[in-house]
Amino acid sequence: MISFTELDLQYAHRFYNFKGEAQYLHGHTGKLIIEVEDSINKGVNMVFPCNEIKKTAWNILQNFDHALILREDDPLLPAILKVYETQGIKNGTPTNKMKGPAFKTELATAYPECRLVVTKETMTVEGMIKIVYDLLKDKLNISKLTFYSGDNAASQEFTTRNNIERCPLCGIALNENGVCPKCGYKK
Ligand SMILES: [Zn+2]
Ligand SMILES: [Zn+2]
Repeated sequence: MISFTELDLQYAHRFYNFKGEAQYLHGHTGKLIIEVEDSINKGVNMVFPCNEIKKTAWNILQNFDHALILREDDPLLPAILKVYETQGIKNGTPTNKMKGPAFKTELATAYPECRLVVTKETMTVEGMIKIVYDLLKDKLNISKLTFYSGDNAASQEFTTRNNIERCPLCGIALNENGVCPKCGYKK
């Protein structure tokens, strides 16, 4: 069975060197749908609580929210960082609170202090699905990702087989010691 959740991400990006309007800097509210597949956890009669899927995803993906997403070879990147530096916001401000943990993968690097994600490939909807799968594949049994950005949308199915032990009382993943971080249940 599949549990799924959706979340919104607001960001600015552009398709550097793309022959179309999208080569100009612009913004979207993107919508990501994350589908997670597993057996039904009998104790709670759920695959996985949807708010937990969302929480797990949001913890990392908030790096893309109210963020600028640019390809690593985009000349806007040094230009914008220079402005941020001059303005004194490159290394963060007290009001930049909604920060995820910095990450670096093969496909993307997040700089939470200045709300920037630098990507290896153009951040199309297809590119975003690759980035998101890479970031979440070890945490969730993702069976499908769908991403909408303006009129563009893409989806990809996956077979992800992490052995995630779930709490029979509240449904969330047990930690490495077999303890539920939410209700304290011990295996
Ligand atoms: Zn766009
Ligand atoms: Zn629990």
